[in-house]
Amino acid sequence: MEDQPRDQKSYGFCNCGTKSNPLICVNGHTVCNGCKGKLSGWCPTCRGVLGNIRCLSLEKVAASLQLPCKFQDKGCAEVLKYDEKEEHEKSCRFRPYRCPVRGCLTVGDVRKIVLHLEHEHQGSPVKEASEISHVFTEPLKHIEDSKRASDPLLYMFQDEYFCLHFEEQRNFLTTSTYSAYITFLGEPTDASKFKYRLEVGRHDRAMIWMGVPRSIRDSLDDITKSNDCLAIPKHLANYFSLGDMQELKLEVRGTIWEKDE
Ligand SMILES: [Zn+2]
Ligand SMILES: [Zn+2]
Ligand SMILES: [Zn+2]
Ligand SMILES: [Zn+2]
Repeated sequence: MEDQPRDQKSYGFCNCGTKSNPLICVNGHTVCNGCKGKLSGWCPTCRGVLGNIRCLSLEKVAASLQLPCKFQDKGCAEVLKYDEKEEHEKSCRFRPYRCPVRGCLTVGDVRKIVLHLEHEHQGSPVKEASEISHVFTEPLKHIEDSKRASDPLLYMFQDEYFCLHFEEQRNFLTTSTYSAYITFLGEPTDASKFKYRLEVGRHDRAMIWMGVPRSIRDSLDDITKSNDCLAIPKHLANYFSLGDMQELKLEVRGTIWEKDE
C-alpha cells in the first residue's frame, strides 16, 4: 500500500499499520493482535514475552482518531473513525476501477482507464455514442474454455464514457449465445442515469434490446449470466451475419441516451 507510511505514523503501535487491538509486551512495546498471531508469543522488538495484555489507552486513542480516506488525493472528502476507515475504503467511489477488458489487471481512475483502453486495447480514438455501429468479426479473443470476447469498444456521451461489449458464451449442450451490452465507466448510481438500445438485424428482421448501462464495478459475468444484455442465439447471429454464414460478421447498432426523469 502506497499510503502505509502515513498510516503507520498515525497509528504508531504496530509495524504493519493494521488497525486492530493493540497488545503490549512485558517491556511495553505494542503489537497489533493480527501480527501477534504470527509471532509465537515473542515481541518482535525486544524478544520479550508477548501475551494477551490489551493497551486500553492506545485503544482509546485509536478509537478517537479521525483519518482521511486513503483516496483523499483522488477526491474523497470523507474523514473517518479509525474502525470505519477500512470498510469505507472498500466501497469508496474514488477507489480505482479495473479495466473492463476480461483478464486485464490494469487499474486507475476513469481518465486513466479511458487512455489505457484507447492505447492498449482498441488502438483507435473514442467514438460518439449517439450512433453506435460496429461489425464484429471472427476471431474473437479466447477468454476461457467456454467464452470468447471482442475487446470492448469505447464510446462517449455527454462527457461520460461507455464500453460496447461483444462476447460469445459456448454451451456444448445446446448452442452458443452471443451477448452485446454496454458498460459505464463510473459508479452504478451514475450508470443508472442512462439508457441504451442495441440491435442486430438484417432481411427486415431485427432483435432489439433496451437496457441500462452497467457500471464497470459490476462483474461482467454477472451481467451476462443474468442476461442483462442483448442475447443472440447462434442461429440468429448467423442469420443476421453479413458474410457468407461461414464466418460471423455481425453488425451491432445502437445508441445511448439520458433518462428523462
Ligand atoms: Zn500488526
Ligand atoms: Zn517488547
Ligand atoms: Zn473514500
Ligand atoms: Zn486493460
